[in-house]
Amino acid sequence: MIKIFLFSTGTAFLTAGQLCFVRNLRNTELKCSQVRWVYEDPIERRKIPFKGRDSLILEIKNRLFKGDPLDDYARTECYEKYMKDWSLPGSEYVVGNKAPKKVLVLNGYYCVNEGNTEILPEYWCNDTIKIERHTHFGKGDKLLDKNLQKKIRIFLRTGKENADIKFNIHSDNELVVTEKGKQSKIVTFFSQPAKWEDQYSKITHLMFVVHGVGHRGNENAVVNITKRLDKGVKSLGISSGNFFIPIHWRNSIQERGHKCDESCSQEQDNFWINLAFDDVRLYNCRKIGKQIREVVICIMNYRYKQFITNNKGFKGTVAIFGHSLGSVISYDILTNFDGVTLWKQNTAGMKLDFLDKMKRLFTVGSPLKRFIDRREERYIELKRKLSISHRMEMKESPVEQFRFVHSSSSFRISNIYHRTDPVAYRLETLIHDGLRFRIDYLVSNDFHWPHLCYPYLGDVYKLMREFFEEVEAPADASEDLCFYILFLLGVLNFFLLITKPLS
Ligand SMILES: [Zn+2]
Repeated sequence: MIKIFLFSTGTAFLTAGQLCFVRNLRNTELKCSQVRWVYEDPIERRKIPFKGRDSLILEIKNRLFKGDPLDDYARTECYEKYMKDWSLPGSEYVVGNKAPKKVLVLNGYYCVNEGNTEILPEYWCNDTIKIERHTHFGKGDKLLDKNLQKKIRIFLRTGKENADIKFNIHSDNELVVTEKGKQSKIVTFFSQPAKWEDQYSKITHLMFVVHGVGHRGNENAVVNITKRLDKGVKSLGISSGNFFIPIHWRNSIQERGHKCDESCSQEQDNFWINLAFDDVRLYNCRKIGKQIREVVICIMNYRYKQFITNNKGFKGTVAIFGHSLGSVISYDILTNFDGVTLWKQNTAGMKLDFLDKMKRLFTVGSPLKRFIDRREERYIELKRKLSISHRMEMKESPVEQFRFVHSSSSFRISNIYHRTDPVAYRLETLIHDGLRFRIDYLVSNDFHWPHLCYPYLGDVYKLMREFFEEVEAPADASEDLCFYILFLLGVLNFFLLITKPLS
């Protein structure tokens, strides 16, 4: 049994005998790259192979767990180059005071369990997926005889069978092989061995997905929305890396016997809307509404910290996809809303930790205009009732505040709506004609429920792609520019040195 020891320097050492054993792996033993790991897709209900890098990670972890040897490529090109500070079995990974890096797969969305039997979601709950180990033209842990592998390849390429051997496709990656006089056996196959370079794009954009009404006790719904958005954007063949994190806030809200009255529901919406949508009633309560915003900020900051830990050196942008009431909550958080008042508040409320990276708020199927209109009415009413002291600084009205957000460059709002969505309103009408630039985006929807259609629509994925392309990694670009300037200065300096006349 081989064990890998990590000393305080973080370097891996094997004894001479162990190294010899690793180098002299018999041909019949599978290399890590010849094994392919697969996962059960719960939606498509079929087994899908992991990308090459994920498969190598899973196989290396599996072998370290069992004490099995690593082949040269897996040891030198994967483990020693990239995985020495990871949380792997048998590794004394403490390097300085740093916590070990989690073993994540599927673009970093899932964490691998200890026994390599399941993967668990990193940013949500209740979504465990089973994984399996399959071999490359092999049976069990052994490669098939070379001649038999050659015959399989010919069969897969041409469909030709040999008189002494029959092949039948069993599933996407399984083949039934029947040799004359022998019992049939199922072998698994992949056309290419796993490579470390076969991986997901580097993540450059992070998007939080905030749900609206009707998610009490139902975390799966916002997770499914998130998955659909991720899959839809990826289906456009976008080259940059996008990462979506669901924010499920409803289960964390507790009324604790609170009964609303006029003192806490001054901006309350239409009686019938409050009656039909309990979450809207709760949000219109100044006490519970504040609690909801604080909960969303807490969850977002926690998830952001988690994401940064898993993606050290992230230089990309952050956006929010707020659906329905979620768009209002997100807007309020970004504009520090704390009830309609006439005076500027000096209270230091909770803030998001990624405001410097925040570039876009997608308000989707959004009643934000309705909320702003109601608040504007309340603001005007307050102004009319109260005698105003000129020494006090008046706060801008809700509509004025929206116009300021629209014209400021910190983050932009894109309002996605569909004509048949009874909850969605246009926002451009809040802006003067001359100062208005694109906010509203009409999308087409042929067959889905009006207010719930957005995660299914190609138009929505295209808008996201436009946004990702628009804000494409400016930090990296400027770094590249600096590099080229320094390089050119270096070349110029060298040229001056070699052309300097001798004195
Ligand atoms: Zn209340």
